[in-house]
Amino acid sequence: MTYSRRVAIVGAGMAGVACARTLAQAGLDVAVFEKGSSVSGRMATRESPFGTFDHGAQYFTVRDARFAQALETVPGLCKPWSANTVRVLDEHGRVAAASLPAKDSHWVPRPAMSALVSRWAQPLSEQIHLQTRVTRIERDPMNHQRWQLRTEGADDAQQVFCGFDAVLLATPAPQAHDLLVSSHIAAEVSQPMKGVQMAPCWTLVLAFPNAMQPGMSSLGPQWNAARSTHHRMAWLARESSKPGRKSIERWTVQASAAWSQEHLDDDNARVEAKLLKAFAEVTGIRAQPAFTQTHRWRYAKTMQPLGASHLWDAKAGIGACGDWCIGHRVEDAFISGLELALRVA
Ligand SMILES: Cc1cc2nc3c(=O)[nH]c(=O)nc-3n(C[C@H](O)[C@H](O)[C@H](O)COP(=O)(O)OP(=O)(O)OC[C@H]3O[C@@H](n4cnc5c(N)ncnc54)[C@H](O)[C@@H]3O)c2cc1C
Repeated sequence: MTYSRRVAIVGAGMAGVACARTLAQAGLDVAVFEKGSSVSGRMATRESPFGTFDHGAQYFTVRDARFAQALETVPGLCKPWSANTVRVLDEHGRVAAASLPAKDSHWVPRPAMSALVSRWAQPLSEQIHLQTRVTRIERDPMNHQRWQLRTEGADDAQQVFCGFDAVLLATPAPQAHDLLVSSHIAAEVSQPMKGVQMAPCWTLVLAFPNAMQPGMSSLGPQWNAARSTHHRMAWLARESSKPGRKSIERWTVQASAAWSQEHLDDDNARVEAKLLKAFAEVTGIRAQPAFTQTHRWRYAKTMQPLGASHLWDAKAGIGACGDWCIGHRVEDAFISGLELALRVA
């Protein structure tokens, strides 16, 4: 009987799942550990009684041929979104640059952003451990060449998973670095992570079901997505304009990196009030939303990437991948996960 190398992957966002599926296709035995209750990480979807919100990534681009090829495995799942022409707004919500033509299409999965990673993760469902946070990586006492992982479940249940030839970290760089340091692992990969910088993003989602009155197709502006120079807000988009979504008027607002950093430790109610005010100023929508929620992404956007597609210490059997290796986009996460897997396989 031939031995399949056993690989643990920490994180089931785009990078972790791209990595896991490639390794599994190459015949390796993979186990994926995800602290959240579902896969997809920052390509998240928030459910509400009025429809879904893509409260992490809003859309993705397809510039790399390998990503395009991978998308061919899920025909029809993703559609271009008409927000291709994104407005640029000034501080007062006036359109400063009309219909900036995007360099490339903005794609969205249907029925919501999380659908793409979920679909690619489906064949691995037996190998993905959800609600399982990796708290420590240590040498396997049964075989010092291998690794074992200590984990914590939703109910604080602690488990140990052992016998891994390699451990691949597919989390944001600061979390990967902290895990290695707290595990006292002096792998070559941890040092370069220190140069990576990631900014937070406060996000507000809003629904206006009353806008669905006869003769009224939508509230507010005629555009569906805009970059904003308002000091609080960087991006706002009408979720209901995306293909395959419910038509109930819904918006997602992303605060700017600087404002999110400044208000990192504010409570949700305070952030909501401030972002709601900015939203009203920019869109002119002053109606009371029937549904609001805020979410803080502590590590949302790469400001300073690693500058290499992945990290791999073959001697230690420790690797790392994620959007932060190359940039700040979904596609970067895919390429990073893919290239790490090809190196390890
Ligand atoms: C608000 C926002 C807007 C964005 N907009 C866009 C956009 O419009 N277009 C675009 O292309 N990109 C956008 N992005 C970026 C895009 O979402 C990311 O590039 C991509 O999703 C990153 O994937 P990843 O796999 O590298 O990391 P993540 O998606 O962060 O995945 C890491 C996973 O690791 C898990 N994890 C962390 N620590 C542990 C642990 N100890 N144990 C177990 N699991 C752990 C996390 O729960 C998470 O699921 C946006 C991001 C945010 C937050």
